Amino acid sequence: MSQQDVLNRYLFDGKHARGELVQIEQAYQDILKNHDYPDGVKKLLGELLAATSLLTATLKFEGEIAVQLQGATNAPINYMAINGDHQQNMRGVAKLKHDTEADSLTDLIGKGIMVITIRPNKGEPYQGVVALEKPTLAECLANYFETSDQIPTSIWIFTDTTAMKTAGALVQLLPDSDDKAQQQSDYEHLCHLTNTIKPEEIFELPAETLLHRLYHEEEVRIFEPQAVKFECSCSADKCLNAIAQLGPDELKSILAEQGSVSMTCDYCLTTYTFDESQLLSYINEVKH
Ligand SMILES: [Zn+2]
Repeated sequence: MSQQDVLNRYLFDGKHARGELVQIEQAYQDILKNHDYPDGVKKLLGELLAATSLLTATLKFEGEIAVQLQGATNAPINYMAINGDHQQNMRGVAKLKHDTEADSLTDLIGKGIMVITIRPNKGEPYQGVVALEKPTLAECLANYFETSDQIPTSIWIFTDTTAMKTAGALVQLLPDSDDKAQQQSDYEHLCHLTNTIKPEEIFELPAETLLHRLYHEEEVRIFEPQAVKFECSCSADKCLNAIAQLGPDELKSILAEQGSVSMTCDYCLTTYTFDESQLLSYINEVKH
C-alpha cells in the first residue's frame, strides 16, 4: 500500500478517545481530473473529500455516504458533493453558477447548508442537515457532531492545491465509562496534541511516524489501514435507465434530431452514447 491514500483508525490505550488520520493524493487528483475548477473550489472539494473519508470511518455499518454542500442563492457554488462508502471508494463533483476567485467556505457557499445522507446496505437511510455557520468545514463538522450525536469530535483538514494533496485528522471522545470528567479530560488532552500537526507533516510523513511524533507519550493501537480510492459508480446500464425515464416522445425527438442519445457522468465525465437500436432493445428488455 502506498504511503498516500490511506485511512488509519486508532485507539489510545487507557484513554477515552479514538482517532483517525487520512492522507489522500491520487484519489484527489482523480476526482479533479479533466474538470477545470477554480483554485478555491479545488481546495474546498479536497477538504470535503478528506472530511467524508473521516466521516465514513465513523459509520458502524456497511453502506454509502454522501456529503453535499449546497450554496446560498447568491453564492458562486450551486452544490458540491463527495460520495463514498465504507470501503473508502470516493467520487466527487462541484457545480458552479459562475467562475470565482473566492477561496473561503463563506465566500464560496454563503449561508448554505451541508446535507449528510447515509444509506446502510441493510436498513433505512438517514439524513442530517447542518447550517454552514462556521468559517471552516472542519468547524461545521464538529458542530454537526455536537448537535446530532452529542459526542465531542474535533476535525483538522489540510489541503494543498499545488501539490494536489488533502489530509485530515479526527479525535472523538469515547463515551465508554461513567467517568465523564476523565473522558472529557482525555479528549481535550488528545485534541491539544493533535492541534500541533503541521501541514508539511501530514502531507509528507508516513502515518506511523506522524502518530509517533504527535502522541509519543501515548500507546496508540492502530487498526488495519484502509486504502482510499477514486471510484465512479456510473455505468452504461444506469445511464440507459435514466434516459428511458424521458419517455418515448422525447426520445423519438432527440433521436430524430441527433441520431443518438448521449449522457455524460457529472463526476468522471465519461460520455455514454446510445443509438436507436440500443435504446429500443433496452426498453424492450425492461418491459419483458
Ligand atoms: Zn462516472
